[in-house]
Amino acid sequence: MTEPTSDKTALVLFSGGQDSATCLAWALARYARVETIGFDYGQRHAIELDCRARLLDGFRAIDPAWAASFGDSHTLSIPTLSAISDTALTRDVEIAMGADGLPNTFVPGRNLIFLTFAAALAYRRGIADIVGGMCETDYSGYPDCRDDTIKALQSAISLGMARDVTLHTPLMWLDKAATWRLARDLGGNALVDLIREHSHTCYLGERGARHDWGYGCGECPACALRAKGWREYQARA
Ligand code: ZN
Repeated sequence: MTEPTSDKTALVLFSGGQDSATCLAWALARYARVETIGFDYGQRHAIELDCRARLLDGFRAIDPAWAASFGDSHTLSIPTLSAISDTALTRDVEIAMGADGLPNTFVPGRNLIFLTFAAALAYRRGIADIVGGMCETDYSGYPDCRDDTIKALQSAISLGMARDVTLHTPLMWLDKAATWRLARDLGGNALVDLIREHSHTCYLGERGARHDWGYGCGECPACALRAKGWREYQARA
């Protein structure tokens, strides 16, 4: 655990998932002050939002310096987002995976919306550094997670708000095993255990079954990816 290298404040997109929890640790290692933002859009995995509080408590317990760095934790409600998902647009459609490997609750360009809302909030709070867990390595199905997309959005936001904004994506080129390793480097096994136990990734919002990689249905693409990453992390550890 290192001293922060910047006296600035960062705003972290924090959903309560594995990636955003790792990004939070990344920001805490670098910034004197860290605020978080989560979005409530009526998602079935609103359980992710419940995980946020437990994770934040866990972060505070792991390192007093982290506890001292936490600023406000924001939740923005965007119910409009659920109104434009497939399950809302097509009556009686069950949540399912499409041929593109994405759940039909997925809203096209969702991360563009999240980052733009985050940037507006950051502007109001005088924050120029925004951190998100977008990753091109594992999520090739999500065009709004690609590095080119994020770079273009950073330019658009900086132009549109007439203020330099940096969108940091520390996981962009990491696979899931490397993301676990990053968590270990930032906060030791205590952080790995915290993320494993209390972060949530499953598309279906399942939290019943406990696997060695954490909770989830074990079948959806998000669970499969998390399980694979954990196995590879264990094998290389
Ligand atoms: Zn799942």
